[in-house]
Amino acid sequence: MSEANDPNAQGFSTRAIHAGQRPDPTTGAVMTPVYLTSTYVQEAPGVHKGYEYSRTHNPTRNALQDNIASLEGGRHGLAFGSGLAATHAVFSMLSAGDRVIVGHDVYGGTYRLLDQVMTRQGLRFDVVDTTDLAALDAALETPAQVVWFETPTNPLLHVSDVAAVCSRAKAAGAIAVVDNTFATPYLQTPLALGADIVVHSMTKYLGGHSDVVGGICVTDDDDLAGRLAFLQNAIGAIIGPMDSFLVMRGTKTLAVRMERHCDNAEAIAAWLNDHARVRKVFYPGLEEHPGHEIAKGQMRRFGGMISFDVDADLETAIRLASETKLFALAESLGGVESLLDHPASMTHGAVPRDERVKNGFTDGLLRLSVGLEDLDDLVADLEQAFDKAFA
Ligand SMILES: *Cc1c(COP(=O)(O)O)cnc(C)c1O
Repeated sequence: MSEANDPNAQGFSTRAIHAGQRPDPTTGAVMTPVYLTSTYVQEAPGVHKGYEYSRTHNPTRNALQDNIASLEGGRHGLAFGSGLAATHAVFSMLSAGDRVIVGHDVYGGTYRLLDQVMTRQGLRFDVVDTTDLAALDAALETPAQVVWFETPTNPLLHVSDVAAVCSRAKAAGAIAVVDNTFATPYLQTPLALGADIVVHSMTKYLGGHSDVVGGICVTDDDDLAGRLAFLQNAIGAIIGPMDSFLVMRGTKTLAVRMERHCDNAEAIAAWLNDHARVRKVFYPGLEEHPGHEIAKGQMRRFGGMISFDVDADLETAIRLASETKLFALAESLGGVESLLDHPASMTHGAVPRDERVKNGFTDGLLRLSVGLEDLDDLVADLEQAFDKAFA
């Protein structure tokens, strides 16, 4: 393949708009059609154009899979009906008795899947702080098949060294998996840093408009891709063609959206950091963040998620969370609109209080998914909410 035709030699935005997509051969439609079909005609038994049944293959899903695979720098993408369905596919490669090492502070649903579903099927797992490489080394002294982690994490924005964690996992014979939902491939590409599989909730930044639920696994390894494709078809937790189309519409603007998310978040993190009523700001872009140097080395910028600890009791934090007008009080993240979450009572209500407070995750912790609105309006909204909460 010549350099000019190699999609991976092109820039990020060019790939985001074109990879996996070409004008429809029958009509010339520039946008990939939504192939709402379950089955495909065959000329003779077994003689077809590569499509037999839409659980196995669908052209709109294929386009999405190739698109995101290209953005992550992998050759294979397998898309699912949600981020957790993609997560489940990875764990379904394992067998009873196998062991997973999972980073602490991972998405609550990932923990729940391991703790309440996979363990019933015989998987074992241990939670390890992957920012602590000595702790990881100790955990890897016992055989493990998968090391699964996120960076930055939710809600405390802990940063792990992707290359260091992946090389340790692989040296110990484990598959290294990074949930790259918070960073997106625009800010961080774990496969290039040694990860075997990258997983996304496409519901968040990749879709980007809070109007679709989906997930994907990306890998550059043919064997892992074959196993995941088998499970995608055998278990059947696929994403539909309409949702595939919506995510692809989202990825076309991923680069410009992420730049604006980062611009707004950097400014708001600095503003919160100077605020008299804020005890602590968790944002990897701040120099005092313990993972700042690692983040600088492995991320393009620092993302659109910020958590901060209000210097007040639970009631005041909840009042503050209820007083914002532009920041909608809601779970989820990564859309064009700004959202605010009180993790202790909303997204992370299942985490035992002692457990979280020990890790700096207090009752006063608020999480922002900073959207694309005008910065001045976002700051004014937070300002009036602080004024009312502390009045
Ligand atoms: C939302 C989320 C998931 C789960 O994805 P769904 O699409 O909601 O199933 C997994 N990991 C992270 C980091 C998330 O934010």
